[in-house]
Amino acid sequence: MKKLLPTSTVGSLPKPAWLAPPEKLWSPWKLEGNHLKEGKQDALLVSLQEQQLAGIDIISDGEQTRQHFVTTFIEHLNGVDFKNRKTVKIRDRYEASVPVVVDEIARQKSVFVDDAKFLRKQTNKPIKWALPGPMTMVDTLYDNHYKSREKLAWEFAKVLNEEARELHDAGIDIIQFDEPAFNVFFNEVNDWGMVAMERAVEGLNCETAIHICYGYGIKANNDWKKTLGSEWRQYEEIFPKIQKSNIDVVSLECHNSHVPYDLIELVRGKKVMVGAIDVSTNTIETPEEVAATLRKALEFVAIENLYPSTNCGMAPLSRNIAKAKLNALSAGTKIIRDEFAI
Ligand SMILES: [Zn+2]
Repeated sequence: MKKLLPTSTVGSLPKPAWLAPPEKLWSPWKLEGNHLKEGKQDALLVSLQEQQLAGIDIISDGEQTRQHFVTTFIEHLNGVDFKNRKTVKIRDRYEASVPVVVDEIARQKSVFVDDAKFLRKQTNKPIKWALPGPMTMVDTLYDNHYKSREKLAWEFAKVLNEEARELHDAGIDIIQFDEPAFNVFFNEVNDWGMVAMERAVEGLNCETAIHICYGYGIKANNDWKKTLGSEWRQYEEIFPKIQKSNIDVVSLECHNSHVPYDLIELVRGKKVMVGAIDVSTNTIETPEEVAATLRKALEFVAIENLYPSTNCGMAPLSRNIAKAKLNALSAGTKIIRDEFAI
């Protein structure tokens, strides 16, 4: 990235109400067949326009063509039964009805490549595309075939790598893997989670990112955060492993969290997407608040490695709130650019 302090979102943005009822996860589509296909492309255009108007430098698809950041990818794989679901506890936190792995995992065709090609035609700005990480996928399923989280993660890593390579060929500049599960299962991260992640990025010639957060701003996550005490040191458990990995960018939660900023030091040398926007509140950050977060992060990351961003996806927020937060991110970043005269 040539521009200093390039702004981006973590990924998801609210969808227009004509496509899916707003402000909820797993929101059902309102359209069908060709109308749905067209509607998703229109939503991609709207999302692109909103990001460009807000001055966002690295564009995302706003996850407009997927119902959920994990399950939509899984839906396109062979070996998963979506009809006979099981209830599991996601990230040891909340129960959800999930699909079941019943046979070998395989990806018959690309999942997002057509969407990526469509978006690529609309803008010359860099595009970042998010995919779920292998461990988070394992944690959003019931496995009745491999009977091993490690083996299943490895299989997911292989199909994610195929998808990522095709996304890069389609012109995507940064591939991001979302791994909120890394913040919960530290032993597994260090045992096999990072190995699976390295397999997912193997041979990719574009920039790669890993996003590790404390979750969307939904009640189950907000309740969990209240139990984590006054200092959130989860990153301390996993950052040393990430620092040694081939991943280029680490996306983390900062603003309004209890993450000590000095933990950023543990991924020294990596680019850091600093979350300067809280996605669990409707309060709009002031530009000065965003600038203050970036200033604190700059004590531990070189300015050429700092990517101002959001704490997590904004899918569950209202569109107006999300737009205002994007504007705040740009305005706050401008304050720092002006300070450094860049
Ligand atoms: Zn997140």
